[in-house]
Amino acid sequence: MNVFRRTYLKLILISASFTIIFFFFCNLMIEYILNANMKLVCDVYYDQVSSKIRNDIILLQSANEYLTENEVIINYLKEAKEAKENLKEGRKEVLEEVNQIERILKTITFAETINIVDLENKSLFANGREKEGFDIQERPWYDDKLFTLDNNFSKITDKHIDYSSGKTSISIVSLIYDSKNPQKEDKPIGAAIMDIYVENLLNYIDNSFYTGVLETEIYEKNIKVEDLDLDYDKYNIYINEEILNNGEYLVFKFDKSTLINASITMESLENMRYVLWFVGAAISVLLFISIRLSFNSALVSINKLKEILEKLNNKDYFIDNKNEFRQLEMLADTLNKSFDDKIQELIYFDDLTELPNRKMLENICEQLIEKKEKFALIFIDLNKFKYINDVFGHIVGDEYLKKFSSIIDEAVKEKGVFTRYSGDEFILVYENYRNNKELLQFYEENIIKKFVKPIVINSKLTMEIGFSSGCAIYPKDGETFEELIKKSDFMMYVNKKKTINRKIAFFDESMYEGLLYSERVKEELKYALDRSELYLTYQPIVTQYNKVAKAEALLRWYNKNLGFIPPDKFIKHLEETRQIVAVGYWIIEEVCKNIETFKYDGKDVQVSINISPLQIMLKDFIPTVKEIIRNYGVEYSQLCFEITENVLLENKDVVSDNIKMLQGLGIKIALDDFGTGYSSFNYLRNYKLDILKIDKIFLKDNKDLDYDIIDRIKQLAHILNMEVIMEGVETKEQFEEMKRIQIDYLQGYLFSKPLSLEEFKAFLENYNKK
Ligand code: C2E
Ligand code: MG
Ligand code: MG
Repeated sequence: MNVFRRTYLKLILISASFTIIFFFFCNLMIEYILNANMKLVCDVYYDQVSSKIRNDIILLQSANEYLTENEVIINYLKEAKEAKENLKEGRKEVLEEVNQIERILKTITFAETINIVDLENKSLFANGREKEGFDIQERPWYDDKLFTLDNNFSKITDKHIDYSSGKTSISIVSLIYDSKNPQKEDKPIGAAIMDIYVENLLNYIDNSFYTGVLETEIYEKNIKVEDLDLDYDKYNIYINEEILNNGEYLVFKFDKSTLINASITMESLENMRYVLWFVGAAISVLLFISIRLSFNSALVSINKLKEILEKLNNKDYFIDNKNEFRQLEMLADTLNKSFDDKIQELIYFDDLTELPNRKMLENICEQLIEKKEKFALIFIDLNKFKYINDVFGHIVGDEYLKKFSSIIDEAVKEKGVFTRYSGDEFILVYENYRNNKELLQFYEENIIKKFVKPIVINSKLTMEIGFSSGCAIYPKDGETFEELIKKSDFMMYVNKKKTINRKIAFFDESMYEGLLYSERVKEELKYALDRSELYLTYQPIVTQYNKVAKAEALLRWYNKNLGFIPPDKFIKHLEETRQIVAVGYWIIEEVCKNIETFKYDGKDVQVSINISPLQIMLKDFIPTVKEIIRNYGVEYSQLCFEITENVLLENKDVVSDNIKMLQGLGIKIALDDFGTGYSSFNYLRNYKLDILKIDKIFLKDNKDLDYDIIDRIKQLAHILNMEVIMEGVETKEQFEEMKRIQIDYLQGYLFSKPLSLEEFKAFLENYNKK
């Protein structure tokens, strides 16, 4: 049977069961309310009628007792038997008294006649006539107790057949005594007996109940209440012993079946039952429709889930179960598992190479770190991968990566885990690390050897795979995953920079510290100019006669965190970040600000400023420089710009144009550090520079050969019309030699170290003026 039909069948069954249960509970509820209602009706009536009858009987008893005190009746009874027979008048009077009471009691419908019994003469006075031979002791209701004097003057007899009418009756018997205050030993002379016909009494009770049928009965005394044979299912029953007060029960039996139809509330409750049935049926139908509608989408979902499962390659799901909810549950379970697997795969594995990815790598390392197991992290980066991608396309690039990964993965399986870190970066976790030697041996034998020959990428392509590696060891080089990654990456980078192919570079603390320091330097340097941490020093340049003629402005940096940082540690960074441009203009401005105050022996002191290659290559360098210099009204000829040979090597028009323009303005151009680079005289000839600064390297060893070289350089410079400055003169001997060679100017610690502005001014004041 198809899933949908089976589901609908079940739904119909569910709705039907719901309806039946609903009907059942509705009935139960209505029954309960009906019963409660009936009980209430009966309770109310029973309370009313029982107290009414009890009061009536008390009234009857009082009336009866009243007669026992009547003088006329007492006197009549006291008359002798013979005298009574003739006493027509007396009888009439008695009848009158009795009738008077009877009239009063007429409203009590169940009260019958009152008879006066003459105990002595054994006669009965009833309806004005005297009946002889009435022996009270022969009455069926006679009981000695009725004729003993106690607190009650009147008593009620048992149910009996009335003497005169033959009807079932009970009687109120009140004793009549001769004296007004009778004593216990006194004998009564008569009794007033009031008959109550049981039938009338019961009819009165039953007929005044209009709501249904009431069947009241009198039960004999001497039977226990629990022994009374009563049908409680049919009747609501109340048993009363107090009304008659003679030991007999008055039993009120309200017929339940008649009560339901009789009361309007009951009737409406009965109608309510049908309304509820209708509501129940309507709910069932709605239930069916709504479940059907909502379940429809669930069924559609089942089919969709099946498709998803198929997409997730999970074929082992089982949904033949007959129960759709169970089916859904099973599907959800299976999906859960499949999703988990898929998600695990997506989270922890690289799609292309199928190697564990960075996340997995982190987990592996964290676990090893937690267990405190030694391991090496080898960072491997492919060389020229971008080139392969660009030249051969991404498909070949992917193949290249896959090939490389599978070779290493295969090779290291037993020793660790090979993972793809990102792009062309891979990391090998080498477990159970013992020492570098063993690791190197493993690396050489298991990895390097596999790449000695070119690798077949596809049927048409064979390539050499080059890569650089760096290694950091846990816990020696780093205690956290991030630290190990950073350090192994750094060492890989070092190898890559040195174009060392395939060899491992083990982590080197001092190298790394150097890098960290230069990183901090770079960071602090960003703010150096704005924070006024840069300042200039001036190193005097003297003639061979030891007189100050020039000076070189040298940049200095004092940082509050790093302290004093020498120029060779920060100038390259200024150039890398092009900050040197701004700093360069600032230097020119600083020099211009102070140069007017630089006088030696009354003459101007020419100041050399080091110009970075980046500056001289700027198109707007000349206008900006001109503007700065003009702002301070400085003579161009007072300034010299020192450039280095590599600027000339650039061989760019802008460089030669700028040099020419600067010279055109009158600014001298010096070639700095001559002798450390190409030292090509060809450039010197072409550029026609003004000053040649021979590098201090030639003075390092104090050798005659070096002095000769200096001499020759000087001669060539002079041929090219250039002044010569010798850098790095530190000793007197060197000074003597330079004088001998007749070098034009000399710069070096022998004369002075670079000086602060104030020191330099003082120096100019005092130095060697004789
Ligand atoms: P440089 O232009 O060749 O500057 C001369 C360097 O030689 C200075 O080093 C100076 O202190 C040092 N020196 C001077 N006399 C002696 C000596 O007798 N013996 C020894 N051993 N050294 C001596 P400094 O100040 O450390 O500057 C190093 C380099 O930094 C400079 O070489 C220059 O290339 C660069 N530099 C310095 N200031 C600036 C600047 O303001 N702008 C630019 N672009 N580069 C600068
Ligand atoms: Mg210089
Ligand atoms: Mg120099």
